[in-house]
Amino acid sequence: MSEVPVQHTQWNALDFPDAAKVLLEDSQTRKNVQHATNVIQGKRNKVVAELPDWEDLREAGARVKAHTLRHLDYYLTKFEENCVRAGGHVHWASDAAEANRIILGLLRRHEAREVIKIKTMTSEEIGLNATLEANGIRPIETDLAELIIQLGKDRPSHFVVPALHKNRQQVREIFQREMHLPELGDKPEDLATAARTYLREKYLRIKVAISGGNFLLADTGGMCIVESEGNGRMCLTLPDVLISIVGIEKVIPSFRDLDIFLQTLPRSATGERMNPYNSTWTGVHPGDGPKEFHVVLLDNGRSPILADKEARQTLQCIRCAACLNVCPVYHQTGGHAYESVYAGPIGAILTPQLHSMEEGRSLPYASSLCGACYEVCPVKINIPEVLIHLRGKVVREDQATLAGKFSLWNIGMQAAAFLFKDAGRLSMAEHMGLVGQKALVSKNGFIEWMPGMLSGWTQTRDLKAMPAQSFRDWWAKEKAPHAKSADDGGVR
Ligand code: SF4
Repeated sequence: MSEVPVQHTQWNALDFPDAAKVLLEDSQTRKNVQHATNVIQGKRNKVVAELPDWEDLREAGARVKAHTLRHLDYYLTKFEENCVRAGGHVHWASDAAEANRIILGLLRRHEAREVIKIKTMTSEEIGLNATLEANGIRPIETDLAELIIQLGKDRPSHFVVPALHKNRQQVREIFQREMHLPELGDKPEDLATAARTYLREKYLRIKVAISGGNFLLADTGGMCIVESEGNGRMCLTLPDVLISIVGIEKVIPSFRDLDIFLQTLPRSATGERMNPYNSTWTGVHPGDGPKEFHVVLLDNGRSPILADKEARQTLQCIRCAACLNVCPVYHQTGGHAYESVYAGPIGAILTPQLHSMEEGRSLPYASSLCGACYEVCPVKINIPEVLIHLRGKVVREDQATLAGKFSLWNIGMQAAAFLFKDAGRLSMAEHMGLVGQKALVSKNGFIEWMPGMLSGWTQTRDLKAMPAQSFRDWWAKEKAPHAKSADDGGVR
């Protein structure tokens, strides 16, 4: 086989602050993102509130995922045995290049020139579409949002609603142009009909499908996909050959565990009580569905995450995107600012770990650490905890280099640590700050510009000037004497 040109799995053009700056100026995209995420979040809150045992479900989901990760080798091997026994083929891919080679090899064996695809972020992660196109094979996305992205030559900005940054008018323009439909209307049913007509011919003609997978079931060797449109079920049943590319963390011990996730995933993802289409399948069956079934189990940086005890919980993710919808940072910037396949809070911890801290080092800082992502996560991933862990890694890596050690930033942080460690020193710094800020405070009481390394604070917002009396001074004057007398008279 000739060498496969494999795309880099990261988009990776700019750092988060630079990319965010560009996107913050795009008011239409911001409006689209904020509207869509608010609608989904509102629906999610409503259906979650209907379940009195929601917290128990979250706890159960977190336990199943954490248990499986602790015994991942066992459950993956069990999945492989059962999948092969049912007539499936299991391939192991250590990285994106290997996964692309395996899939390309299978497609070449079947002389496929076109494939239909179910939405899969894993295929985005390995750059599969670009690899296929470079090798003369045309991938056709069948999920409506993915189709919009593909025809619009765009990138997904959300992993449940990849085209969330587009409004209806923009979608109509893409369909008119790419499907040659100048008379197309902009009602949802007009757009859905256009997509259905465009795809129907492809479902009936193309013989190979590629999917991802929401869950791998170790006890049966089966797989599960949940979706809203039915396009997935068409791809799972009509073609002769089905190839599924799935991250190794997607395995769960048994079919019965779906009981938890089929309640928590749709509620968290789209605010639905249940997905309209839940498909599970196991191996191949004469006269029913594909004649050949392959699963490519993808590592691509997951094993090192598994080995990191503090960050391992990252792999519990079931890709519901609830953390994106609730994140104040994502709300403002949208998904493209993360310059990664995985956006939002989970992207901020997953991307730097999947590849290298070097590539995604600004992402752990793309968060206000408000904790909203942790509160909504259906598998209780403590994203703020992992963000801080990763920030620590970035700092330690920086400090290990000579340039980092003597950088202005590091010296400034060391000085801050020195001040914050001692109440007297901090108080002295506050008084010095009061004097020092005088030249910077404008008439409205805000500081709009700061010099040197402090300039970061005022690059995107004005800073409120320090008050004439600090809280500590106020406390010492007003409260401390009373607190002392209350103590004196209290029962010991
Ligand atoms: S981290 Fe939690 S909330 Fe975010 S996508 Fe994953 S499962 Fe959903």
